[in-house]
Amino acid sequence: MNRLLIFTFFVVIAGLIGLTVTASLNKPATFVADVPYERAGHSSDEKQDYAERLSQAIQYQTISSKEASDTDQKPFAEFNDFLFKSFSGALSKLTLEYSSEYSLLFSLKGKQPSLAPMLLIAHSDVVPAQNHRADTTSGWQYPPFSGHIDDQYVWGRGALDNKSAILAIFEALEKRARSNAEDSHRTIYIAVTHDEEVGGYRGAKKIANYLKDNNIRPYFILDEGQAVTQGVIPNVEKPVALIGVSQKGYMTVELSAKGEPGHSMMPPEATAISSISHAINLLTNSPMSPKMTGPVKSMFRELSHEMGFPTNVALFHNWLSEPLLIAQLEKNPATNALIRSSMSVNVISGGIADNILPKQVTSLLNYRIAPHNTSDEILAHIRKAIDGTGVEMKVVSAIEEAAPITDHKGDAYQIVEQAITDIFPDVIVAPSITLSTTDSRHFADLSPNILRFCPILLNKRDLNRFHGVDERISRENYIQMIDFYGRLIDKI
Ligand SMILES: [Zn+2]
Repeated sequence: MNRLLIFTFFVVIAGLIGLTVTASLNKPATFVADVPYERAGHSSDEKQDYAERLSQAIQYQTISSKEASDTDQKPFAEFNDFLFKSFSGALSKLTLEYSSEYSLLFSLKGKQPSLAPMLLIAHSDVVPAQNHRADTTSGWQYPPFSGHIDDQYVWGRGALDNKSAILAIFEALEKRARSNAEDSHRTIYIAVTHDEEVGGYRGAKKIANYLKDNNIRPYFILDEGQAVTQGVIPNVEKPVALIGVSQKGYMTVELSAKGEPGHSMMPPEATAISSISHAINLLTNSPMSPKMTGPVKSMFRELSHEMGFPTNVALFHNWLSEPLLIAQLEKNPATNALIRSSMSVNVISGGIADNILPKQVTSLLNYRIAPHNTSDEILAHIRKAIDGTGVEMKVVSAIEEAAPITDHKGDAYQIVEQAITDIFPDVIVAPSITLSTTDSRHFADLSPNILRFCPILLNKRDLNRFHGVDERISRENYIQMIDFYGRLIDKI
């Protein structure tokens, strides 16, 4: 009887194994999701080398400018030389596919080149540091381009945004190359771009064109955008990793009003300045309609588990309490920006003297377009709101629509989520909408899955270090970044 049971058990198990094997042979490989994670070891020498290489990367003053002719080219050339010299193991396996000025596109062939590849993007340029002379601290604890290292941190411009990502990707590849790790299934492309901070038109855009021309369509793209935060979201104690599944669009509109110039002793009822003020007022009082889009709903759903009663119930069932929730979210600029296209009045100019009527007044309104709106809808909204004021409008920037929303239940999102939870075990992962602009905007029509996440760990104070003073990354977090990219590569 027992033998029969055991025999039956083995037959069933063998049948199940057979089924699984057949199923996985028939199904085209997508991702290697089920490989158990063993945390990679790093010797203390390796850890010191990681910090020193990152420090050196920070020391190249790769500050980008809109015009190539205004940019100091030398640090960019030196930074790229440094990459090639420092990661000879990784580079022995990589192919430099394409370059545009100092932007580089590498490829690393996978075991199954017929599968659509993954593209990782990180940028080497940085914004200036106030009075960024390397020999002065100018408000910084250490000079911003000194790459100062102490027991806990590597300091300097680019430590968070975004040189640590480039270096961490290359450290992960180097470690794999030196330990003769198996190739990944999918081919990996790595884009190191050099003008993200000024629009990405000479780097990322050219790389996107190259991929398009060669019909290379990544299955998914991972760029910077969001991070792991701790103590930033009210009422949530655990660290939260947000993955940007869309990115807001961008458009600047100029309003202009004309007046009859003349002496101000006999002023008309309205001057050009009062007309434009009236128009701005009308627009401020009729903001674009809010909407809880799919990713925002999911984000609050995920976060609701961590919040106390009754917030958790209200958030979890956000379809029940949507108007109430919107009313709450509208009160905070950060959450308001998640649910609607925003308008910010940033420039107003006109008038020359206190006793002369102004001839022309202009104002610049910067719009960040939410995924549920188009630029045309916003323009129609403005036209309607200022109708009858005599104020004219025109678009004065390039129009960038919001990025399409990546499915956060899809494979690509899941694989990034798993890599995050492998490295940051206690973290809550949730989709979100990236409010800033990133290089990924140039790749919108190349891949159905664009995700914006960088495994940097930020607390409330760190948020100000972005483009601010005392930018730094902890040595421990930097190792997590290396592990994250290594893990991602294992899985694809
Ligand atoms: Zn950046």
